[in-house]
Amino acid sequence: MQKAENLNVIEDNRELAAEILKKLIEIKALSPDNGGEGEADKAEYILSLLDFADEIERFDAEDKRAKNGIRPNIVARINGRRRRTLWIVCHMDVVPEGDLKLWESDPFRAKVVEDRIYGRGAEDNGQAIVSAILAGKFLSEHRPDIGFGMIFVSDEETGSRYGIQHLLKEKEFSKDDLFLVPDTGSPDGSLIEIAEKNILWLKFEIFGKQGHASRPDMFHNASRRAMRILLELDELLHKKFSERNDLFEPPYSTFEPTKREKNVDNPNTIPGVDVSYFDCRVLPSYSNDEVVEFVRSFFDEKEKEDGFKCSMEVIQNESSPPTSEESEIVIRLKKALRILRGIEAKPIGIGGNTCASFFRKAGYETAVWSTLDGKAHEPNEYARLSNVIEDAKIFAMLAFDI
Ligand SMILES: [Zn+2]
Repeated sequence: MQKAENLNVIEDNRELAAEILKKLIEIKALSPDNGGEGEADKAEYILSLLDFADEIERFDAEDKRAKNGIRPNIVARINGRRRRTLWIVCHMDVVPEGDLKLWESDPFRAKVVEDRIYGRGAEDNGQAIVSAILAGKFLSEHRPDIGFGMIFVSDEETGSRYGIQHLLKEKEFSKDDLFLVPDTGSPDGSLIEIAEKNILWLKFEIFGKQGHASRPDMFHNASRRAMRILLELDELLHKKFSERNDLFEPPYSTFEPTKREKNVDNPNTIPGVDVSYFDCRVLPSYSNDEVVEFVRSFFDEKEKEDGFKCSMEVIQNESSPPTSEESEIVIRLKKALRILRGIEAKPIGIGGNTCASFFRKAGYETAVWSTLDGKAHEPNEYARLSNVIEDAKIFAMLAFDI
C-alpha cells in the first residue's frame, strides 16, 4: 500500500499545475459543432507533457471540419505491477464562453486570483486533465500496484461521437479495469455519482380541425384538446411510474411538459394542431420503452374517443445501467477519501447525462467523481488549485491496493 504521506510530494507541483491549467485554458478547444476548430492544438500540448508515460496511443477520429481533419483522442498509461488498469477519463473540448458581458475577465486568458484560476474550461474539464497528469507523473516514479491510464478525449460537450464513442469502438479495454470520470462533483468531494436517470424526450402532435373562432360548433380546437390530454397524461405517468429511489434527487421519475410550438398567427382562428414536448427523466428500474408503450396506448384510447389523431415522436432516448455501490471503483474511492480526507463519501444518482453512460453501456462499471465548486458552463468559470492537487492525490492512491 502507498503511504498517504508519500503522496504529499504532489503538493510540490502547485506551480507546474497552475502553468499547465493556464495554458489549457488559453488553447481554445471548441467543437466544430460550436463553431470551433476542435482539439488538435490542445492534444499536441498534452502530448508534450506525457514524456513520463510508458505507453501512448492515439485514436483520432476523422472530422473534415476540424483542424488537421481530426478529433484527437489520447490514451497514455503508466505500468503497474499488474496489467490491470485504472483509467481516468478527461475531455479536452470546452463549451463556448456564452454572453461575454457576464465575464469579468477574458474567458480564454487565464486569470489567477489566490487559489482560483479563472477561464473557460478551467473546471470543465481542465482541472481533471491537470490532476491526471500530476498523478501520472508521481506514479511513474512510484510504481503502482495496477496500471494508471490517462484518457484525453474530444467532443464530450457535443455528443462524444468523435470522442468516447469512437474510442470505445477502436480500443479494447478489460472488464477487469477500473474507470473514473472526474467531470462532476461537490465542493468537499463527498459525492460519487454511480447512476443516471434514463432520459426520454417526447414530441406530441395533437390534432383537431382548424377554422373560424366564432364557430367552435363546426371545428375542433386542437389547443384545448392538447391541454386536456397532456394534463391527463402528466398525471397518469406520475401514477404509473411512481417508484422511489433515494439515490436520486428528486427520488422519483420526472415528466415535465416543456417546449410548446407556436400554433396559429391570429387570435380568431381555432388551431388545428398543437405541438408540444415532454422531458422525462425516468428511474433506471424502468425502461424508456415501457414509458413509450404506455403513452402510445393512452393516445390510441384518446383517438378512439373523438376520432382525431394524436401522434408521438421519440426525439431523445438515453439510458445506461447504474454502477453498483459495491463495485470496486466505488469501494476504492470511498477508502481513499476516508484515508486522505477523513470523509465518508456517499453514492448518488443524477437526472443529467455524463459521458460515463457510454462506458456503463459498454459494460464497464464507472464512477463519476471530483472535487469542485460546480462552475462548469457558467460565466467566470474557475477551478481551485487546491482541488487540482488534492484530486491528483486521490487518483494516485487509487492505483495502489488500499
Ligand atoms: Zn465536462
